Amino acid sequence: AGGQDGEVQKAQRAAKASEEPGQRPPTIFSKIIDRSIRADILYEDDKCLAFRDVAPQAPVHFLVIPKCPIPRLSCVATGDAELLGHLLLVASQMAKVEGLVDGYRVVINDGKQGAQSVYHLHLHVLGGRQMGWPPG
Ligand code: IMP
Repeated sequence: AGGQDGEVQKAQRAAKASEEPGQRPPTIFSKIIDRSIRADILYEDDKCLAFRDVAPQAPVHFLVIPKCPIPRLSCVATGDAELLGHLLLVASQMAKVEGLVDGYRVVINDGKQGAQSVYHLHLHVLGGRQMGWPPG
């Protein structure tokens, strides 16, 4: 069923994540989820968490993460469709709450060339200043 972290998906994710040695869950984001380290949490429900980035790259910069530890976007499967949609909806709702009425940027970094540093899937939401294109 949609959103379930089945055995096949888990195995596929483990195989994909192992392409980046030393970059497997659990990560620092698992510790934010279980409250073993502090974060400025903006929103939480049974499926996800939104919290402020510790090194903000814009006046507003928060992350939206699933509670299940999907390492990276390239690990997702069709069964994750509902969860991925939910993450985007929460990003949109929290951007409104944060007052980003003139627009904002949503970014997902994947893997080495995508400059991903934490291997727990996350959406960056950045706003409150003019963005440039192309990104670096
Ligand atoms: P990535 O480079 O796309 O993987 O982004 C990881 C983000 O997580 C970076 O923007 C970091 O600043 C942020 N980050 C790392 N550790 C923490 C933390 O403990 N709290 C909040 N944000 C964090």
